[in-house]
Amino acid sequence: MKKAEIISVGDELLSGQITDTNAAFLSRAFRKIGYEVPFRQTCGDRIDYVQKALSLALSRAEAVVITGGLGPTYDDITRQAVAEYLDLPLEHDPKVADEIRAFFRQRNRAMSENNLLQALVPRGATVLENLWGTAPGLYLSEKGRQLFLLPGVPREMKALFENAVLPLLKREDSQISLTRILRFYGVSESSLDEKIADLLSVFPQTVLAPYAKDGEVELHVTAIADSQKIAEERLMAAEKAVLERLGAYCYGFGDTSLEKCLVEKLNRLGLSVATAESCTGGMLSQRITAIPGASAVLAYGVCTYSEEAKKVLLSVTEETLSQKGVYSEACASEMAEGIRRLSNADIGVGITGVAGPDGGDEKNPVGTVYIALSSGKYTWVEKGFFATRSPDRDQIRRLASSKALSMLLSFCEKL
Ligand code: ATP
Ligand code: MG
Repeated sequence: MKKAEIISVGDELLSGQITDTNAAFLSRAFRKIGYEVPFRQTCGDRIDYVQKALSLALSRAEAVVITGGLGPTYDDITRQAVAEYLDLPLEHDPKVADEIRAFFRQRNRAMSENNLLQALVPRGATVLENLWGTAPGLYLSEKGRQLFLLPGVPREMKALFENAVLPLLKREDSQISLTRILRFYGVSESSLDEKIADLLSVFPQTVLAPYAKDGEVELHVTAIADSQKIAEERLMAAEKAVLERLGAYCYGFGDTSLEKCLVEKLNRLGLSVATAESCTGGMLSQRITAIPGASAVLAYGVCTYSEEAKKVLLSVTEETLSQKGVYSEACASEMAEGIRRLSNADIGVGITGVAGPDGGDEKNPVGTVYIALSSGKYTWVEKGFFATRSPDRDQIRRLASSKALSMLLSFCEKL
């Protein structure tokens, strides 16, 4: 497999002020086209640092991408560092200078002279036109290695990579790598791993990598082959085997989420939902309304945080509150039914629980959340427990809203 190396330049990356999202993007992008990324480097804004990193990268990778430090300010030293290292003079490129002037003119902005530093190009380099900003990218070929300099601004870096770098990358003999993401809810990472462990030997050319996040598990299935067709076949075969065992927990594929799947499914089935939330304070309705198309499936979402609000808006009874308590199956069910009746939606959701850090007791320790769904005809209540050893209010609220979304996904199929 060909090797690529990524060098991220910037003091702000080393200090932790900015997360290096460029490197993550580039790693994924290289893997997609069959390159391996065995190393990444991050270095500060100093000429000698960039040169050391470059020297190491060129010694072990066929393609090297440097991001950051191409701008016009004194700390942007990538261009100079590379030119010096490769012993190439920096030359003024009048075409790039014109483009930079035009960029400012179009935006009615005054251009300071130092912007023209970005028109300096190492002799022999190819300029990669940047339609999204002022610093163009640069491409150099050095002893059979391909070297790309890209701006640090993530949006510009991505656009340049996709439009200018991908077509230049040599990949005649590289392998195809295809990845599909399967999304699971209701199964832990370790039990998922256990259930598919033996598949690794059944599908040796496929990588199955689970990642746990926010109570969900993503399984990245990657197949590598010499051709697109074989990679696709391998991917399908592995995916089929995984789904035979774990299909019941799989709610979606690729770039999706519980809320996105739910909005799509409700739209498809022509069903609507209304939410009454206490401890999640609107997080469930916020997650649903974040998805385009939500207006067709959600009209009401109320935050009924106090007992008073639960009584007045949702008709939760005094009797339930005094005898069963506000943290109870009964209260959640009445909330769900109350909002369903108020809104006329097909499904009402009620959520009540203890997000902490204070307020728990023996019956309902911090992290206990009751979630009810009501269709008028059927009610489904679950008591969930979402605290870890060090309970985290936000995490409890998020996990509870995820559970509600996953319950809704199954419930709406049964109506
Ligand atoms: P500019 O012309 O905007 O100065 P540049 O190539 O000089 O571009 P930088 O100055 O290094 O880029 O960074 C520009 C912006 O992009 C900054 O906000 C910086 O924090 C951000 N950035 C730089 N590198 C990365 C990275 N690896 N990941 C995410 N953001 C980054
Ligand atoms: Mg800069």
